[in-house]
Amino acid sequence: MSEHFDVMIVGAGISGVGGAYHLTQQTPDKSFVVLENQESYGGTWRTHTYPGIRSDSDLFTFGYSFKPWKGTPIATADKILQYMGEVIDENDLDQYIRYNHTITSATWSTEDRRWTVLAQKAGQDEPVVITCNFLWMCQGYYRHSEGYTPDWNGMGDYEGQIVHPMNWPDDLDYAEKRVLVIGSGATAATIIPAMAKDAAHVTMLQRSPTYFATGRNSNELAEMLRELDIPDEWTHEIVRRKVIHDGALVTKMSVEHPEMVKEELFGNIKEILGDDYPIDPHFTPTYRPWHQRIAFVPDGDLFHAIKDEKASVVTDDIEAFVAKGILLKSGETLEADIIITATGFNLNVLGDISFSIDDKPLNFADSVAWRGAMFTDVPNMAWVFGYFRASWTLRVDLIADLVCRLLNNMDELGVEMVTPVISEADGDMELMPWVTEEDFNPGYIQRGIHLLPKQGDRDPWKHSQDYVADKAELPVVDLNDGSLSYE
Ligand SMILES: Cc1cc2nc3c(=O)[nH]c(=O)nc-3n(C[C@H](O)[C@H](O)[C@H](O)COP(=O)(O)OP(=O)(O)OC[C@H]3O[C@@H](n4cnc5c(N)ncnc54)[C@H](O)[C@@H]3O)c2cc1C
Repeated sequence: MSEHFDVMIVGAGISGVGGAYHLTQQTPDKSFVVLENQESYGGTWRTHTYPGIRSDSDLFTFGYSFKPWKGTPIATADKILQYMGEVIDENDLDQYIRYNHTITSATWSTEDRRWTVLAQKAGQDEPVVITCNFLWMCQGYYRHSEGYTPDWNGMGDYEGQIVHPMNWPDDLDYAEKRVLVIGSGATAATIIPAMAKDAAHVTMLQRSPTYFATGRNSNELAEMLRELDIPDEWTHEIVRRKVIHDGALVTKMSVEHPEMVKEELFGNIKEILGDDYPIDPHFTPTYRPWHQRIAFVPDGDLFHAIKDEKASVVTDDIEAFVAKGILLKSGETLEADIIITATGFNLNVLGDISFSIDDKPLNFADSVAWRGAMFTDVPNMAWVFGYFRASWTLRVDLIADLVCRLLNNMDELGVEMVTPVISEADGDMELMPWVTEEDFNPGYIQRGIHLLPKQGDRDPWKHSQDYVADKAELPVVDLNDGSLSYE
């Protein structure tokens, strides 16, 4: 006998825990369960344990709409986990979450109007079988078990230790060691100042540079509102609005006046490193600002580590790994005792779960996204894919409201099945990748774009990645406009 629930949430990261909260508030009569592969909640913030692990966007917007953030804008993983733990405790969500359950397959039956989900429970041979009417995919976007490491020549010849930040050994001793960090993204920017405190020296080796914003890890408006003893709920909402307002402005400026944005970003770095530091080539990307996420470096710690000569930057290509380190294309060899490959993720579409619809294997890349949240030919399923430029969680709250409204609408209509369908009129619309390369082009997306669903050129098939537009549209989307087929 299998257990049955109205809704199953996959994953207990920031998306899944948020989804669980909203279900209790907006669809209190629905039964639901959350299955999570790891031994506790947190997702990203539990998987990553490298030195200094912290957010790169502010917690007023990375936090939920319903729970005030009371700390500094940029927060460590510990603080984020503590915040999520409070959400779980305060709302009694633990009763719904089952840890150590890895979902391996999900099969939809139109006849039975339900999903049959198989999960492997740690320490148990037989899979757990659970059925549900609606599947809410909150599995994130990358494979947690292993990060992405390119296959460089000679890696086997290297005599030191190679570590990917996603699989950080608890006992890694880097005190007084020469560390080489490959990569220039937010992870590299976090690890380098943290390791530089104890290492002999940390070198950042990048093929191409990244934009960084830097400033104090504080929010002046939040500080003022707190000084005035304004209730935390108000402060949270007001600061969120200001962060979103400013974020939209920077995005617009990055498209319309990229040179001005560059000058501002470079100016802040020069203030720490001085005018003589070669910002070009080390911090001058070839793409315009916001083509990839701009990571925030709190208190400029990366740049202070460089200024103090505890860290340095090399911009060059790797020719090969050699016994003592890395041989560069320029001919120079960088010697290192430990090499950290901060080279990113493996995109993981649908949590490595094998999906089938009425016994036919689902090829997710064949489907077209409805408002970036549901998919043609995939009944009773929604997923959360957050924002690239704004905080991920902003979309968690919006999609949760949409899913809960949809579930309630289905009850009102007395139907059990909902599937997005493209109307005849839209049948000839141009289909495009999930994200276009001109819009946003980080490596993990480029490597995995062929696995992701398509988007169309018009509503409701467009996926804009624009929070301000979504915030206006999603809450008032007409769920009975014909783009969703109910049975
Ligand atoms: C180091 C790092 C820093 C980041 N910083 C920011 C930031 O500052 N701001 C921002 O907006 N975004 C940031 N991101 C992006 C970040 O991943 C998301 O913002 C957010 O944490 C994703 O939450 P999630 O719950 O959707 O997914 P995840 O955090 O990936 O959680 C998904 C959960 O689902 C579980 N799961 C997956 N597949 C299965 C399965 N088959 N069965 C059972 N369970 C499964 C996983 O174990 C995991 O716990 C960062 C990412 C990384 C890696």
